[in-house]
Amino acid sequence: MKKIATLSTKDCVSCGCCEKVCPKKAITVYNGMYAKVDEPLCIGCGICAKACPADIISIKEVDTLG
Ligand code: SF4
Ligand code: SF4
Repeated sequence: MKKIATLSTKDCVSCGCCEKVCPKKAITVYNGMYAKVDEPLCIGCGICAKACPADIISIKEVDTLG
């Protein structure tokens, strides 16, 4: 199992707080519109989830193959 951040893009206010705090540079605000997680880079630390003022980021467990 791997943990990754997931979020509701439609509720993102594009503040960039998640992008600023991510230690892996795994979350980016695209075109000033919404944040997107680069799943291979994300380590599921949850720092972004704590930083998000809209509280839309959660950490999910995903199955990893191989
Ligand atoms: S869970 Fe951690 S590594 Fe993943 S996007 Fe959020 S701050 Fe970055
Ligand atoms: S911290 Fe939350 S609201 Fe702000 S850009 Fe990231 S996901 Fe969007």
